[in-house]
Amino acid sequence: MENRAEKRRIVLVPVAAQGHVTPMMQLGKALQSKGFSITIAQRQLKQISSSLQHVPGFDFVTIPESLPQFESKKLGPAEFLMNLNRTSEASFKECISQLLLQQGNDIACIIYDKLMYFCEAAAKDFNLPSIIFSTSSATIQVCYSVLSKLNAEKFLTDMKDPEMKDKMLEGLHPLRYSDLPTSGFGPLEPLLEMCKEVVNTRTASAIIINTAYCLESSSLSWLQQELGITVYSLGPLHTTSSLLEPSLLQEDRSCVEWLNKQKPRSVIYISLGSKAHMETKEMLEMAWGLANSNQPFLWVIRPGSILSFDGTESLLDEISKIVSERGYIVKWAPQIEVLGHPAVRGFWSHCGWNSILESILEGVPMICRPFQGEQKLNAMYVESVWRIGIQVGGEVERGSVERAVKRLMMDEEGAAMRERVLDLKEKLNASVRSGGSSYNAFDELVKYLNTNQR
Ligand code: UDP
Repeated sequence: MENRAEKRRIVLVPVAAQGHVTPMMQLGKALQSKGFSITIAQRQLKQISSSLQHVPGFDFVTIPESLPQFESKKLGPAEFLMNLNRTSEASFKECISQLLLQQGNDIACIIYDKLMYFCEAAAKDFNLPSIIFSTSSATIQVCYSVLSKLNAEKFLTDMKDPEMKDKMLEGLHPLRYSDLPTSGFGPLEPLLEMCKEVVNTRTASAIIINTAYCLESSSLSWLQQELGITVYSLGPLHTTSSLLEPSLLQEDRSCVEWLNKQKPRSVIYISLGSKAHMETKEMLEMAWGLANSNQPFLWVIRPGSILSFDGTESLLDEISKIVSERGYIVKWAPQIEVLGHPAVRGFWSHCGWNSILESILEGVPMICRPFQGEQKLNAMYVESVWRIGIQVGGEVERGSVERAVKRLMMDEEGAAMRERVLDLKEKLNASVRSGGSSYNAFDELVKYLNTNQR
């Protein structure tokens, strides 16, 4: 039996959401393969705890909850996050002190999700090295830096001026003011406050970003200069680790059998990630648009993802009738496997960062339907920078859905996007192979963790 106590321990602190947990676990697995012991410190959330504890070889500790439930319900997302960080400092310190008391627990580093910046206080108190982990793109991190320096009132006035909206952010081509991701975190003022906290590196020695130079070289160079700490861009992490990531929802594998029966490169896969919601009317328009496109499709409709609807089963019945035998609906799919399936030709995505990385790595072009600020920025990169997809804006309406699907799946335009995404896939694969930029960054991180002594 291996002696885990002899290995140096890394404490990982994820955010309890699928898009954050998955890359954090992948990072843990990659570090474990280099001889580190991994402890996951997580907040007391039942759903996440039970699914996470299946990761073999990881240890788990719980950070006692100190933010009262009733209080969290009253707050907007940015305020909630700041409050959570304020109230979790003491309980996380207690957690680390318990870990240090256990014999042989030599903590090499605390690596925490950038939104869990309360970890920094414990790292400082116990004189432990710490590293920030960003599960979103480098460009989002750049935007957080820019937002942290803005004045809310002036920004809101500027956004009413069309010239200002279109103005490029200095030294940050192709970003314009209006690209700054300001929706999805509630009112602007708390969001800007939150950005100040998130970009403050405090005593952290480095930041790890799940991206690669071939995708975001200028944002990465900008960050390296701006932050003054090491930036490890070592993504996409799911190529570095062999982990079958913990899924917070039960995967329905019947969709793979359905895909096996479809013609090669004929199917459009539709998924809006783990958090986005749609209105009933939009779902019905979407169903009609997909059906009218005459393309076979696989559609993930997550439980609870339909807003303002009180009888999900009957709506699903109605949708099933519209989509008939051309479409297949599941509640949650094994996404990476689906994107890599020979029958899949296109991906209708909400443009979460993980979904984009997964799509590029499987060489699948995208239709982008982003919901909030970060996703809108990701979609802009997909459409205008890498040119591997198209955006569908405005109201969801059956005609625009049908046109978008046909453009991607049948037109020459779609074929050109496919060529480009295959090219990008090759570059991304090269970056994680021996000698590639992400491979080297991971190597450097491991060296740092091995040599850095308390
Ligand atoms: N995912 C999945 N099955 C689904 C839908 C999504 O496994 O049916 C996974 C997907 O592979 C990705 C994650 O959920 O790794 C979603 O993360 P992303 O950053 O794309 O979006 P978020 O959920 O954070 O908005």
